[in-house]
Order: sequence, then C-alpha cells, then structure tokens
Amino acid sequence: MKTITTHYIDGGFVESHGKEVMGIIRPTDGQLIGRVTLGDEEDTRRAIAAARRAFATYGRSTKEERARILRRLHDAASARLDDLRAAMVEEYGGVVRFAGPIVQSGINAFLAAEKALQEIPWTCNWDKTTVTLEPVGVAGLITAWNANALFICLKLASAVAAGCTVIIKPSELSSLQTQVLVEALHEANLPKGLLNVVTGLGNVVGAELVRNPDVDKISFTGSVAVGQTIMRDCAATMKRVTLELGGKSPTILLDDANLDQAIPAALTMAFLNSGQACAAGTRLLVPKSRLEAVKHAVQNAMRDFTVGDPADPKTAVGPMVSQKQYERVEACIRKGIEEGAEVLVGGEGHPEGLEAGYFVKPTVFINVKNDMTIAREEIFGPVLSVITYDSDDEAIRIANDSKYGLHAAVIGTDLQRARHVASQLRAGRVVINGMTDDPQAPWGGFKFSGVGREYGRYGIEAFLETRAILEA
Ligand code: NAD
Repeated sequence: MKTITTHYIDGGFVESHGKEVMGIIRPTDGQLIGRVTLGDEEDTRRAIAAARRAFATYGRSTKEERARILRRLHDAASARLDDLRAAMVEEYGGVVRFAGPIVQSGINAFLAAEKALQEIPWTCNWDKTTVTLEPVGVAGLITAWNANALFICLKLASAVAAGCTVIIKPSELSSLQTQVLVEALHEANLPKGLLNVVTGLGNVVGAELVRNPDVDKISFTGSVAVGQTIMRDCAATMKRVTLELGGKSPTILLDDANLDQAIPAALTMAFLNSGQACAAGTRLLVPKSRLEAVKHAVQNAMRDFTVGDPADPKTAVGPMVSQKQYERVEACIRKGIEEGAEVLVGGEGHPEGLEAGYFVKPTVFINVKNDMTIAREEIFGPVLSVITYDSDDEAIRIANDSKYGLHAAVIGTDLQRARHVASQLRAGRVVINGMTDDPQAPWGGFKFSGVGREYGRYGIEAFLETRAILEA
C-alpha cells in the first residue's frame, strides 16, 4: 500500500496541511492500492507564495538560464522513464503500448520547449521603440487524469521557457504518477519555488488557484464544464487563461482510401488511450457507397483491438480510469442503442472474463446520424460512431457540425484532395493519413474545445505578455 502525505512546495516535500485522505483504486481490479492526503486552501496559498517569491528572480532569468533548466528537467525526468510508465499502467490502467510513447513525449516536451525558446523573437527594435516579451508571472497549471506526465511536463516546459513560476494542481486520480514525476523533477535542482505541486480536489486546490490574485495565469486541461467555470471565475482577477477541453473528432475516409490501411488507422485514432483521449477520432465518416466494405474491414481489424491487461504489450484497450467513467461509457452505449444506432462490434457490459475491473467492450456503432447523442457528446471511452455521407462537401459539413473542434483526420489516396478537405475543417489540428505528432506544431481547439494553444512556440507565447518601451 503506497501512502502519499506530502506536497512539493518551495523546493521540498512538505507534509499536507489538508487532512482529507482519498483511496487510490487500481482500475484493472478495483482494489485499493494506496492513499493520498489531499491538499487544502492553506497548502495552495503556501505554494502560491513560494512561486511568487521565486518569480521575483526567475522572472528576470536569461534565455540561456531557462534553456539550462529545461535540459536539467529533461534529464531528470528521463532517468525515471520506466517508473513513470509503470505508474501510468498501474494507477490509470493505460495500455503500455500507449503509456510508453505518452510519457516519452512528456519528457521530450522539455527539449522541444528549449528549441522553441531559441526561435522566439524576445526583443524587437525600431526607431526609438523596443518591444520585449515578458513572462506573465505566476501560473497555475491544472491537469486531467488521462495523460498525467504529458500534461504536467508540457505545461511546465512552456511556463519555464517563458520565465514563469508555477503551481501544479494535478488530477487527484493521478496521485501516484504525480509522486513519481515530482520525485524525478526534484533531482533537476531547480531554483526554490519555481515548481510547486499540490495534489487535491478541483473545487478546493483548483478553485483557490483560480481565485487567488497572486496567480496571473491558469492553463487548464479538462472538461468543458470545468473549463467554463474557470474562464468565468478568472475574470474576477483578470487572469490569462488557456483551456484545453474536449473533442468529438471526425475522421473522414475519402472514397479513394485503401481500406486495408485506412480502417486500422481510423480505429487506432478512435481507441487511442483506450478511448480516453481528447483527440480520439470518435466519428468515422465514410462514403455511403463503401459502407458494406467498411463494415467488413472494421470487423476484421477489430480482432487486433484486444481488451485486457494494460501491462501486456499486445493489449490495445485497457480499463476505464474509474467506476464513474465505466458507468458513463456504459450509459452512452445504452443511449446509442435507444436512439436507433446499430452495434456492429462490442455493446453493453464487461468483456467476458474482465468483470472485476472497469473494462468496457470497444464498441463500433453503424447507422449513426450526426444528431444522435453518441455523435454529439464526448464519451471519453472506446466508442466509435460510423456515419455515412454522399459527397466530400457533405463529409466536410458533417465533420464541422459539432460544438467541438480539437482534432480531425482525413484519409485518402489522392494527397491533393485530402489536403483540400483538411483545409476546410474547423479544428485546431488536422492529420492526414494517420495519427502523427510534431512537438513544434500547435495543439488546441476551435469552439468548445478550448481557448489558446500549447506546444512549441505557440505554447510558450501563451505564458508571455508584450511590453513596448518608447523613448521620446
Ligand atoms: P475535469 O474537468 O473533471 O478535471 C480536470 C482538472 O480540473 C482536475 O485536476 C480537477 O481536479 C480540476 N477541477 C475540477 N473542478 C475544478 C474547479 N472548480 N476549479 C478548478 N479546477 C477544477 O476533467 P477530467 O475528467 O479530469 O478529464 C477529462 C476531460 O479532459 C475530458 O473532457 C477531455 O476531453 C479533457 N481533456 C482535454 C485535453 C486537451 O488537450 N484538449 C486533453 C486531455 C483531456
């Protein structure tokens, strides 16, 4: 049984002032594997005060100093890669084939930020005018549970590159993973108070960060509902906000797509991180004329999307993070059936032999209309809706007919045509012919998917203010 009773404040691990204790449940079997003491407002205020003190010095650091710190953070996190991956598999139930790359891309974020830092025009001069980019100040970083190490590293890297000091409020469902990561980052020997981490509930620790006038910026990854609360409450102290929220991402399969490659690629995007991914491609738009072929290809390809032990490299889909998330996904599958969609693969209930944990059946619906609940709401589980279209224009219209606009994909053989379709999609990121990543490319959403961007120079700019000095 692991027990966590500390937060990371002012360069060291300190006992929690908050006394509430929460159990940590393993999603593969519902067993209690640890206990975490949750922080309170006092812990949060101590962390904010430490970050504020540190900002007085770190806010004036040079580009070279920040680059050195980013490299130290990278090296410190790299040293614990295996432990970070193991914690993600155990506490979150992330499949190891995805947990490995996700943790690695978190670690890489420090070097990516160092590269971007070199490319930003920090000072601009003309005539008697000088424009400089200044750190926004003390930043509160609030994260979700589905890719803990990635979110923490990514936000921290951008903030540090910008010259900000931070207080991180990780998801309380990621306490073990956070503990491993913070132990690792402690070895980077950072200036005291630059990095502070308080684990606790959103409406306690998160709310204090949002409310406190000594915090200048909130960068949040999570649900739309909480994002809206944060945006509204940040107005009281005029905080800057970056919101990375949900998605209902479309994958447009063009009629010239090779199904042998296209369908596995589309399913990989749909069931990414066991479907608990904001970018998951959960609406598959297929030409009506190819529906029968698509159905066969999906049924064949689904044999490779096995559910089970997340530690097994062959497993494609692990358990949902919690009983609550399990129930949410099951309720959505039921709703799909009630609204008239047809289950092609999967359906309600636990997969056979996996009754103990929070496992659901990876499910593909056909006969889905874009106005059905399963096509409109983010399910955050392995549930794919297949929707048919008659023309490229109709596919684009359906893809854009969503309150979300985070991610989208186009799959087709004629690259020019795929690019033309991609250019008409209202989403922050569009991938062509399969999931791919570029750590310098911006990440973030149109519409309800959020406000602002992360990654590369776009992510750093979100932590900057612009100052002009004019001489008479
Ligand atoms: P959530 O909104 O419930 O919680 C996110 C974080 O906010 C947690 O740390 C939580 O404790 C905190 N929080 C809750 N109430 C708060 C409050 N009143 N004030 C301040 N903080 C508060 O989301 P979740 O269930 O942890 O994560 C799932 C959601 O995250 C999904 O909607 C998913 O799409 C989204 N997500 C988005 C991205 C992206 O990059 N766009 C990435 C991953 C997840």
